[in-house]
Amino acid sequence: MSRAFNFCAGPAALPEEVLKQAQDEMLDWQHQAGCSVMEMSHRSAEFISIIEQAEQDLRDLLAIPDRYKVLFMQGGASSQFAMLPMNLLGESTQADYFNTGQWSKKAIAEAKRYCDVNVVASGDDQNFCYVPKAADWKLSESAAYVHYVANETIGGLEFAEVPEVGGKVLVADMSSTLLSRPIDVSRYGVIYAGAQKNIGPAGLTLVIIDESLLGNASAQTPAMFNYEIAAKNGSLYNTPPSYSIYLAGLVFKWLKNLGGLEAMAEINERKAKKLYGFIDQSDFYANPVEIESRSWMNVPFTLASADLDKEFLVQAEQRRLLNLKGHRSVGGMRASIYNAVPEKAVDALIEFMADFEQQQSR
Ligand SMILES: *Cc1c(COP(=O)(O)O)cnc(C)c1O
Repeated sequence: MSRAFNFCAGPAALPEEVLKQAQDEMLDWQHQAGCSVMEMSHRSAEFISIIEQAEQDLRDLLAIPDRYKVLFMQGGASSQFAMLPMNLLGESTQADYFNTGQWSKKAIAEAKRYCDVNVVASGDDQNFCYVPKAADWKLSESAAYVHYVANETIGGLEFAEVPEVGGKVLVADMSSTLLSRPIDVSRYGVIYAGAQKNIGPAGLTLVIIDESLLGNASAQTPAMFNYEIAAKNGSLYNTPPSYSIYLAGLVFKWLKNLGGLEAMAEINERKAKKLYGFIDQSDFYANPVEIESRSWMNVPFTLASADLDKEFLVQAEQRRLLNLKGHRSVGGMRASIYNAVPEKAVDALIEFMADFEQQQSR
């Protein structure tokens, strides 16, 4: 059987070219190391060249200013929920958090173990289908930082603009949007992302941090959770997730060859517009998110009746369209259309959705 179109929210599709290259050098990296990347010392010259090249390519793609450190960490974005207050609070006892969906809630719950959380604004009054307007935000005076989830993977809600927080340290969970389009890194104190959505295999977590924020970790912070220690050791304080770093590096090269993030953004915008356009013109499918805050990466949608969900998924799978089931907390469907999901996958999905709709009206 050939590869199917995979709309999984995470771990998600990876570019086929990347997997083929990994396959080609699985047994013998670059046909010269004599072993796979998985079997290499993380202190070897070969692996150092892999991690350094990956960092450089990421810096090029995102135009990361020199004053930022790039950290290759572990534990997923969920561990960052704890690491952020541990590392950033300093003398402060408060942090500001936007509440725009399920991942915001988890970040808030974790931060509450370490400090007072001021919720800047919340979309829970309307089931998280919108980004609260700036006029309704309540930023606090004493917060050490302001946290938001740039793209809510479950709700399919994305901030169209970087929140303007008046010089406060801005921290963003970009797990499901990093590398989908260009961003201005200089607006942020910290950007973090679990890799398994849009970057590479699970096991790797990227942290991009303004170096002026290092050195504020509380005394109890475990060494493995301390950004300063990770930065001082070039992400090699302990054994890093070396194979995931290697694969992420191949993804960065793939993006560069494609023309970088401007080129990727054009494709992503086109994919998203097509799918939302189809959903909006249909009376059978619906997406609840306000138009200006719709995610380019995760597109939740419902059918005219939830009784049809099961049949929809069965037929989708017969057409080799995988993992369209919505998150258990919201139901319905969700198509995740990350960088590695090609435009022709979106075309195939729309064709199937149209056929299914017609079939129901017969
Ligand atoms: C997937 C996801 C997480 C959790 O990531 P883990 O790597 O599983 O901890 C957190 N935030 C967002 C926005 C996500 O999409």
